[in-house]
Amino acid sequence: MAWDTKSTKKQQSDQASALRSQVLDAVGPFSPFWRSRFKSLGTTAAKVATPGGLFGLAAVGERDVCPDGAPTGAAALVLQAGESGWALHAEGPQLRKALTRRLVRKGTYRAMVEADTRPTTFVFAGLGFRWPVASTRSDLDVIARAGARLWQVLGLTSADVLVCGLPTQPSGALQALQLGALGAGSPAIFSGPDALTATLKLVPASVLALESATAADQLDAAAAVIGSVRTVLLVGAPTDDERADVAAALQSAGVTAKVRAVHVPDGHRLMWAECAQGGEGLHTYPDLDLVQLVDPETGESADATGPFELVLTQLGLRGSTLLRWRTGDLAERVTTEPCPSCRRTVPRVLGVRRRALVPDVELRSGRRGVDLRAVSSALLGRSDIADWRVLLGPTARRQTHALLVHVVPNPDADSSDVAVGVARDVRAAAGLLPTQVVIEESGTLPAGEPLSRRVHTHT
Ligand SMILES: [Zn+2]
Repeated sequence: MAWDTKSTKKQQSDQASALRSQVLDAVGPFSPFWRSRFKSLGTTAAKVATPGGLFGLAAVGERDVCPDGAPTGAAALVLQAGESGWALHAEGPQLRKALTRRLVRKGTYRAMVEADTRPTTFVFAGLGFRWPVASTRSDLDVIARAGARLWQVLGLTSADVLVCGLPTQPSGALQALQLGALGAGSPAIFSGPDALTATLKLVPASVLALESATAADQLDAAAAVIGSVRTVLLVGAPTDDERADVAAALQSAGVTAKVRAVHVPDGHRLMWAECAQGGEGLHTYPDLDLVQLVDPETGESADATGPFELVLTQLGLRGSTLLRWRTGDLAERVTTEPCPSCRRTVPRVLGVRRRALVPDVELRSGRRGVDLRAVSSALLGRSDIADWRVLLGPTARRQTHALLVHVVPNPDADSSDVAVGVARDVRAAAGLLPTQVVIEESGTLPAGEPLSRRVHTHT
C-alpha cells in the first residue's frame, strides 16, 4: 500500500511496530544517552516501545543532552553498536544475507554492519548552540528515499531543475534537498546565497529553494534571472509576513510560481512539505517519524490548551537517534484528517512557528539563541516563588533585546535572596544571565504574546 494513503488505523498499527523495533532493536541497546535516561527515569526500553509508553516519556531537547551547552554531549545520542550487537538486532533477512556473504567473501559482513551502524556523514543542528547530527550509510538511503517522496508531495519530477540558495554549511535542510534531488533524479545546484544570481544566469531553474527569512531579498536581487522558476521552496516554516514579501517579490519580477513551505525541524533529517495542491500544513512521513505536541514549559504531554511545542520521534533512522525530541518549534495542531487538497492521509502539522521557543536575538552581550525552555526549567517548581513570568522583547531604545524574569516571592522568602538565586539558576540552566530579575507583588505580573503560559514575548 502506498505510504501516503493508508487508513489512520493501518498507519497507527504500522507506526506502533516501527516504534517497537526502533526502541527495542536500536535505541534501547545502542544509545548511551537513552540507556542512561531510561535508567534515571526508572523505566525500560520495553515500556517506552509502545505509543502509550512513549507518550508518558518526558520530552528532551538539546540542553538535556548537553547540559553545559558544550556540543560534545551530543555524541551520546549516536548509536554505538559492535558486530556482535548488530547480529542480535539486525532484521532476519538482512542478517541471513550478511552471514551468507561472510562465508563467500571476506570483509562483506563488516561492510554490511558498518553501513547500518557506523556514522559517516555529519550535519550541524542546534538552536542555542551548534551540535553535530550523525548519519550512517543506511540513513542516507532513508533520507534519499524520503526525498523522492518530498518531490511527489511538492509535485516535482526528474525534469525539474533545482537551484538552492541555502547557506552551504552542512545542515539538515541542505542534506535533505541534496539527497532528495538525488533520490528523485533531479539535477540540482547548491550555489549558496552569494553565488545565487550568477548560478541562475547559467542554469534555468524550475525550482528555487531559499531560506524563508531572506527569500524576498534574494528574489529581488535575482529578479532578472528567475523567469523559468515555477516553484519556490521556502525553507523553515515561513511566517505570514515572509510569505507576503515573497509573493510581492515574485509579482514585481513578473514571475508566476507556486510558493511552498518546507521544513526540517531542528535535529531531524527529513524534510516536511506543503503539498503542490495547496493543502494546509506540513505533510510528514508516518512510517519514518512520529509527531506529537507537548507543553512548552515542562516538556510533558500537553492538555488541550496551547501553545504547544512540536516533539518528534524518529522511526528507522540510526546515527544520532531522537525520541520525544523537543524541536523548539511551536505548532497549533497535528491532524490526521486526509488533506483536503491532495487526499494524503499522512499527519499534517499546522501553524508551525520555527524556533519560537529558542529565538535568535541580539542581546547586549551579543547575538544568540535564547532557550526559553531552559529559562522556564530554572523557575518551575521553586519553593521560594509563588508565580513568575518571563518576558523577552526589544529594549526601549530597540537596539537590543532584554530577557526579563518577573517573580513573586513567597511571603517568607527574602526578595534579594530570591533575585540572586533566580539569576544564578537561570544562568546554570540556560547559559545566560537574565537582563534583570524583577521582584513583583501578586497580581502585578506583566503579559505579552504567550509562547507558553508564563513565557511571553513583546514587540
Ligand atoms: Zn496535501
